[in-house]
Amino acid sequence: MSDTGQQSLNQHPLIQRAVVTLPGGVNSPVRSFAAVGSDPLVAAHGRGAYLFDVNGKKYIDFVQSWGALIFGHAYPPIIEAANRAISNGTSFGLLTEGEVELAERIVEMVPSVEKVRLVNSGTEATMTAVRLSRGFTNRDLIVKFEGCYHGHSDALLASAGSGVATLGLAGSAGVPKGSVADTVVLPYNDEEAVEQLFLSDGELIAAVIVEPVAANMGLIPPAEGFLETLRRVTSQHGALLIFDEVITGFRLGRGGAQDKFNVMPDLTTLGKVLGGGFPIAALGGRAEIMDALAPLGPVYQAGTLAGNPVAVAAAIAVLDNLDPAVYTMLEGRVSLLANELEPIFEEAGLPVAIQTCGTLMSIFFKDAPPSDYRTAKACDACAYKTFFIEMLDRGVLLPPSPMESMFVSVAHERDELEKMIDSAHSAAIAAARIASSTN
Ligand code: PLP
Repeated sequence: MSDTGQQSLNQHPLIQRAVVTLPGGVNSPVRSFAAVGSDPLVAAHGRGAYLFDVNGKKYIDFVQSWGALIFGHAYPPIIEAANRAISNGTSFGLLTEGEVELAERIVEMVPSVEKVRLVNSGTEATMTAVRLSRGFTNRDLIVKFEGCYHGHSDALLASAGSGVATLGLAGSAGVPKGSVADTVVLPYNDEEAVEQLFLSDGELIAAVIVEPVAANMGLIPPAEGFLETLRRVTSQHGALLIFDEVITGFRLGRGGAQDKFNVMPDLTTLGKVLGGGFPIAALGGRAEIMDALAPLGPVYQAGTLAGNPVAVAAAIAVLDNLDPAVYTMLEGRVSLLANELEPIFEEAGLPVAIQTCGTLMSIFFKDAPPSDYRTAKACDACAYKTFFIEMLDRGVLLPPSPMESMFVSVAHERDELEKMIDSAHSAAIAAARIASSTN
């Protein structure tokens, strides 16, 4: 490794092959590790908290497929359910019993959801939520918040977090001006800006879409009263409130962020944890709104593989194993990590703010915790990069971008947490040394 924290490894032959046939060598931008100046990690297999790369090196994995794996890798009940389902056929493109069962479980667990539409990705869920809001209200304007990432549909690719923020893209090429002309972007946690916008344009707004706990610009919890304000002003003006719970759904608790903060949206998008690593996501909400979807209503949405029986079986296994005790345990582990890591950075002389919200956490290299995208971007990305590389060297995989949150799973037991903390100790000292030599 060089002093800049840049890995100068000979590229693995698979990466050399990958760049020939896959743009950038990957199928999703953050996997390139460009934000941390490293070669991509090539995964071979995973077990519990551990991920093994193609060289056989073992990592304690805090990415966990970007939050999809709340039980860790290859959790037996999920694998068994998927295996049972797959032997009956991989797809029918017809209604199956599993879809009804899964929808019933989601309705039972997520307080504001009365009806569900299953889709294949979070992007599809949020894209459909936007179209449904516009179709239901007969209005065009959508309000989103800077640094919140809602997938890659055109209308939502304005000032997005996650990979868009990581790679420093303003949005995306190829998004026509017209597609974002009806998207208004406000700063996260800025109640005043929301009130003002509704005062001037309230009757034009179809919906406000928000990550109720922002997790794609690092982790930024909602300021006290922020979600309540969104609920109040949208209701007052006949606009819908969409909670994008693709990360927070089944992650912050069985009922997601809406249950934790007791603020009920009109529509909810779910993904990640729901599928236990299988490609499935969902849009749910009040029956009156959901019934505006085809075939009952005028808002079109469809999918050849929607409600895929293997993914559905896996999702049912996930939800059936989400005992309330899971969340108590994960919250305990997250606070233990935060409490143990803070003095380590302090001792190393690296200013950090460790932000947590229930079972979610992230490390910002900045002395004060950020509250929005502007303050999140002001964090020291170089320090994160160096710390990331030092941790990777020691067999700990953190999110390969300062803009992503860390994911602790049920499989991260005492041993893994202790190893992580031990590694952080020497990695923080090494990172501080590199920082002072390059300043
Ligand atoms: N919404 C949120 C909050 C997300 O974090 C993501 C993905 O990271 C998405 C939507 C898009 O989901 P997918 O990557 O499954 O399309």
